[in-house]
Amino acid sequence: MSQPSTLAANNMPHAPYQAFADFPVQALMPFTQRPPVVFTEGLGSWLQDSQGRRYLDLVQGWAVNTLGHAPPEIARTLADQAGRLLHVGPGLHNAPAIELADRLTALSGLERCFLASSGAEANEGAIKLARKFGRKRRGGAHEIITFRNAFHGRTLATMSASGKPGFDTMFAPQVPGFPKATLNDIGSVSALIGPGTVAVMLEPIQGEAGVIEATSGFLRDLRRLCSELGLLLIVDEVQTGIGRTGTLFAHQRAGITPDVMTLGKGLGGGVPIAALLAKDEVSCFEPGDQGGTYTGNPLVCAAALAVLRVVTAPGFLPAMNERAAQFRDGLDALALREGGPPCSGQGLLLALELPQPGRAQQLADTLRERPGQGLLLNAVRPERLRLMPALNASPQDLALALTWLDEALRTPA
Ligand code: PMP
Repeated sequence: MSQPSTLAANNMPHAPYQAFADFPVQALMPFTQRPPVVFTEGLGSWLQDSQGRRYLDLVQGWAVNTLGHAPPEIARTLADQAGRLLHVGPGLHNAPAIELADRLTALSGLERCFLASSGAEANEGAIKLARKFGRKRRGGAHEIITFRNAFHGRTLATMSASGKPGFDTMFAPQVPGFPKATLNDIGSVSALIGPGTVAVMLEPIQGEAGVIEATSGFLRDLRRLCSELGLLLIVDEVQTGIGRTGTLFAHQRAGITPDVMTLGKGLGGGVPIAALLAKDEVSCFEPGDQGGTYTGNPLVCAAALAVLRVVTAPGFLPAMNERAAQFRDGLDALALREGGPPCSGQGLLLALELPQPGRAQQLADTLRERPGQGLLLNAVRPERLRLMPALNASPQDLALALTWLDEALRTPA
């Protein structure tokens, strides 16, 4: 974005349907329904479309833009790194990758790190690592217990690990070896454990399922069970990691340490990078087992380091938690008025359940199209609105989102 100030000043009338005249979208393979708007710039919590209309963005690229749109810390870092070293490939060391692995291992207490480009790729790596561990240390055990409604990515193995309804038949046959348990039901996990089991894998909060939390008690029970039986506990923190839920990693709330953790989304703050972290004794890849052209790409590693510098700076997460608590109070008050339960989630990964079927989607559409400026929210389920603002969203912007949501909720569907 060349002139950030124009974004703040511009508030042109709404004409989203004209946007497509200038953009031949038919060349893109259709894979999801998208509104007829083309976004061209962003700054902090605000996005702007090609018609100059502004939107307050509480989706932030699906919980990716940790520091909002076009954060100066990342922009500066990218420009500097691009002028220095863009790419050397997996066969040569580079300084940002070494520094990032060092930082992530120190922050997580997991001693080894593999850098990837997407959450699915990191999870695919975690699955391979667990299978290798099973082959070397557990007599060939390869089954990984995962959970109904879980989401771990869109590669064949990660779709098979996911419990999203429909994923089991969509590209059949699935990759075998992912029996499904029920979240927060330790008995359902125990019942699936057999000689072929090597690991249990879960999201501390199931994001795509609608922001459904694993309780701290369940996470601790799982940790105990896995430790007793020598199984690996794999936490997928692709959506919950890097401060999103109020702690640097969501599992820290339960006071546990996993054997393996994956990160993605918020780690790059808008730049595609992901990570697979494992305890030293689990880190059993041998040369040839794992790789990837872009692993440890210096450009994206430098961006992740910039994100980590901000999020781990003293005071950043406490201040975020204060704003998040206020925001949550406001959402809970709306939920109460609408006759729904209080929000689910933690920190700034929250969802509001609305009693009427389809109401969340209708609200998301209405708010995006509201007169004046739009508000972007995600109807993660037809009856659940997911809110994932930038971690540094201002109290004013969060309050404005509450005001607009309140207005929309008062308008009958
Ligand atoms: N795991 C979780 C928990 C996720 O939420 C997602 C993405 N929504 C993924 C994995 C996949 O990440 P990516 O889209 O970067 O492959």
